[in-house]
Amino acid sequence: MSASSPAGTFPDPTLASLDIGHPVYAAILDPDTAFWALVDKTRVADTLAGSMLRDAYRQHAEACRRELHALRFELKPSGVYLNPTERCNLNCRYCYLPEMQRRSGGHMSADELLASLSRLRDYFRSIMPEGSKPRAIFHGAEPLMNRDAVFAAIDAFADDFIFGLQSNGTLLDDGAVSFLTARNVSIGLSLDGPSAGITDATRRTWSSRSVHDRVLAAMDRLRGYGSWSVITTCTTENLPYLTAMVELFHAREVPTCMLNAVRCTLPGARAVRPDDGAMTRAFFAALDRTHELYRDSGRKLVVANFANILIAILAPTARRLMCDISPCGAGRAFVALSADGNLYPCSEFIGLPRFNGGQLLADGGIDAALTSDAFRSVTGRNVDAFSPCDECAIRQFCGSPCPAEAHELNGGMGGTGAFCTFYREQVNYALRLIADGKANDYLWSGWDDGTETLFDLAH
Ligand code: SF4
Ligand code: SF4
Repeated sequence: MSASSPAGTFPDPTLASLDIGHPVYAAILDPDTAFWALVDKTRVADTLAGSMLRDAYRQHAEACRRELHALRFELKPSGVYLNPTERCNLNCRYCYLPEMQRRSGGHMSADELLASLSRLRDYFRSIMPEGSKPRAIFHGAEPLMNRDAVFAAIDAFADDFIFGLQSNGTLLDDGAVSFLTARNVSIGLSLDGPSAGITDATRRTWSSRSVHDRVLAAMDRLRGYGSWSVITTCTTENLPYLTAMVELFHAREVPTCMLNAVRCTLPGARAVRPDDGAMTRAFFAALDRTHELYRDSGRKLVVANFANILIAILAPTARRLMCDISPCGAGRAFVALSADGNLYPCSEFIGLPRFNGGQLLADGGIDAALTSDAFRSVTGRNVDAFSPCDECAIRQFCGSPCPAEAHELNGGMGGTGAFCTFYREQVNYALRLIADGKANDYLWSGWDDGTETLFDLAH
């Protein structure tokens, strides 16, 4: 693709250097556009002072800027997170939903769920290109607590949505697995430890019973299915065991996992928040181990949250829009529907009433929610506009997640949430892998189908 405007009619790009901790290479980036180049670290000053890279990039800077701006500020939603119940059979320590709701909240009736999906289908049809289907992910609390309604909805709207289900795994019996896999529903589970003692530290039933073995049994049922994943939430309780965790996942043929730093939105989560240094060391050790396992076995265990950062660097507009861009996917790439029929930018906000965008089935519906103050306060959060992110070279790759966390932890949208140093190191690690030609080992096969190279000076 080439720039459509003559060079020189736009502000001269500002290029910054970044020490990525590589023995040979450093990065040069334009923090405004997600453009980057790797250069010999002994030539960084010369490259920045010289004109070759700058002149070549200037021809493409406006196209880069335009693409990134469209991704960040011109999106319409193409997915929904559906919370068909407020209840959960577990009491995880870091849950973002209020305890009262999880313990004794209500279910959405099957009729309400069907009516909601009908309204959502009509909305998505009105804005999405013909032939493309929106995603609908059943999500926490525990959607299988309202299994009959969920399964009725999946059958009623099989032609209209690509369905997924995120579950704690304890209710995924043979019948549920047969139903969901026969309909190609993607399934996500959660497991926090390689042994019961570690999992039990954060994820137990209300009566403190272990669920570790039940989740392992669900994983056994899913072995061989193409579309499933497991989330590990990284906390003070399980960080020393992350490497053992990925070994367990690989041995059980999990295709994709997520090693998510605990989201510190509510106080329970902050009580198990690891410090950035410990998080960084444990996360990289686990990533290194996935690579060894891949080299030894020829079978990948993709760590999806890291793969998404790699893709954000390699092909910024091909990333799956969740947390790693600012504004994040909340209220832009997707919306969340709570069990009482209200729309929120993301499920992470469901415990925070001020971010309620109104009833889906009310007159204004989804359009009213998208333009509500509640949504605008989230979708307007701009990493270019607050300190220290506005000065950070990697802000388009980190995205300063998460607005819900930032709001609750640090008192507003105009600041960082938790784990700034970890996110920074994660980007450095990704750039080192790219410098060493190893990035593809950490990505799904075919991740770049349909992507386009805008600018490649090496070729
Ligand atoms: S949170 Fe930290 S690493 Fe992320 S953009 Fe802001 S300053 Fe950069
Ligand atoms: S950053 Fe927070 S609000 Fe945004 S998509 Fe991620 S979890 Fe949701």
